[in-house]
Amino acid sequence: MLGFPGKTEKDETMKLVEQHCRRTYKRACPSCGSWNLKPQTPIDVDIDITDVRKALGQYACAIKAGATPLKGPCYIMCFDCFYKGPSVDCSGRTSEDVGCDKAVFDEMKRLWREHDYKPNAGRQP
Ligand SMILES: [Zn+2]
Repeated sequence: MLGFPGKTEKDETMKLVEQHCRRTYKRACPSCGSWNLKPQTPIDVDIDITDVRKALGQYACAIKAGATPLKGPCYIMCFDCFYKGPSVDCSGRTSEDVGCDKAVFDEMKRLWREHDYKPNAGRQP
């Protein structure tokens, strides 16, 4: 790890997040080396992101309906450079179904640990 001068509480929080991600994902982002990783499960909702309040409403309705169709593949993404790991195809399944399915998350983590790094659509920092 690089040492930055002037440690703050935020650094401590980041360290805890990083520890959690190290345990969970076992591999830092191959693109930028960040541990700011989060699993993505895109849902099939026509969200208008130009209107945040409307979007939140649409999202809430979709979630409330109980069975949220997934838009497609689930994957682990780096939130620092938006690099996307290999995806698990979950189309046809619902977000609730996949959310309860540890196997899907395990598969995402396995693919993330074992995949060969190729620069993809991720945005460079
Ligand atoms: Zn990254």
